[in-house]
Order: sequence, then C-alpha cells, then structure tokens
Amino acid sequence: MASEESLRLLIQNKLASGVLPGHDCTKVFGGVSNGETCDGCGEVIAKNHLVMDCIGEHYPKTIQFHVRCFYIWDWLLQSYLASHSIRAASRHRRRHRVSNSPRQVPAA
Ligand SMILES: [Zn+2]
Repeated sequence: MASEESLRLLIQNKLASGVLPGHDCTKVFGGVSNGETCDGCGEVIAKNHLVMDCIGEHYPKTIQFHVRCFYIWDWLLQSYLASHSIRAASRHRRRHRVSNSPRQVPAA
C-alpha cells in the first residue's frame, strides 16, 4: 500500500487538476466494498473492506474512496477551498422563499 505522503501528493494532484471534486460532498455513505476502484489512489478497494461513497455536485457520479483516502481528500479539500477563497459556508445565499399568500387550506 502507498505511503501516507505519496497518497497525499496523488490526491492533491487530482484535486488540483479537477479529477477529484473541489467541493464538499452533500452526502457520504459508508458501505462494504464489492471490489470498487478508489477514486483517490486508483487501487481496488478489497472486498469486504469499507468504502466511502460521496454524493455532491458531481451527481449522479459517486466518488468512491478507501476510508483512509477519503480522510486525506477531505483534509486536503479544506486547505484547497481556503486557498481558492471559496468560502462556501459564508457565501451561501440565504434564499428564503417568502410567500405573500397564506397557504390555501382546502375546505373540509
Ligand atoms: Zn484509495
């Protein structure tokens, strides 16, 4: 298995080149691998090992990781977002859908 340092470099490159998404996932699932390939390191996730499935703006594609690769990607992503000054959290527009008309309640 690759060392932590080489994994970090590999995932950092994929993040910079856009192979891996540069935004947070909206949902992350954990499951048992059926022999999927890790999008982080490119190696097969051994059967019966835990696989992390990430769903986000790249939907319907899911990004799959070893647990270790997922944490490295997630950690790198935070510094990537900071360096690209994408302050996703603070820039989120608060879109309150204000309706002027009260909800029509059907007459019983
Ligand atoms: Zn991996």
